[in-house]
Amino acid sequence: MEEKRNKGGENLIEVFSSIQGEGKYVGCRQLFVRFEGCNLRCTYCDTEHTINAHPMCRVETGANTEQYRDVKNPISPESLANILQTLDKETRHQAISFTGGEPLLHASFIKEVVSHLGDRRPKIFLETNGTMPGALKECMDSIDIISMDIKFPSILEKPVWERQEKFLAHACQKDLYTKMVVSEETTEEEFRKGLALISRYAPGKLLCLQPVTPFHGVRAISTARLLAFQSLAASLLKDVRVIPQTHRMLQLA
Ligand code: SF4
Repeated sequence: MEEKRNKGGENLIEVFSSIQGEGKYVGCRQLFVRFEGCNLRCTYCDTEHTINAHPMCRVETGANTEQYRDVKNPISPESLANILQTLDKETRHQAISFTGGEPLLHASFIKEVVSHLGDRRPKIFLETNGTMPGALKECMDSIDIISMDIKFPSILEKPVWERQEKFLAHACQKDLYTKMVVSEETTEEEFRKGLALISRYAPGKLLCLQPVTPFHGVRAISTARLLAFQSLAASLLKDVRVIPQTHRMLQLA
């Protein structure tokens, strides 16, 4: 799928302040920018994929308000940078998280937004499915932290190993961690293949095993399988942690 770019800006779903609920920076205060659309269709996905389905973007009125106003889409890079700077003024954020959907469908927009944020900005955090290496290269200089999902064939229409390998080869130059969402459907074969990929490019970086939140018939992983997967991963990689989606426990966005 090609990069999606609207003239004058991008259609965003929401912009808000919350706590990072997953991965290496779990618990950190972050600003979230959620884009429309994704280039994959994972079986457990609870995200809406339609492009241009949001005439308005929900923007939090202040970092601790949980009150929202509607802003007309598309939003320009300058306007988004202003919104983010205003939200960051009252409460300092560890990072601005570009999420989705797949944020790399909007790589040139991200680059422009970051160029308007100035030097005193929070770190730039990319939550990606790790299948768009060309788009990563385009905005690489604007990104500080990468959270990359390893996508298993059992949850996709077709495997994406080749694209993920190219992506990892670049992403490992950054503050990168990888994430595997594991379910009862995850096979040992694909799990081993994912580990081989990570151990080739990022053996010293964190791997998070995230038990799936059951959706669309995908089954939760048993504790025994989860622990067996962690032992297997720890035999090849330096840092392997099981971290569930904590924002669901706290009922945060
Ligand atoms: S990569 Fe993420 S947003 Fe895209 S389909 Fe998979 S789970 Fe959904």
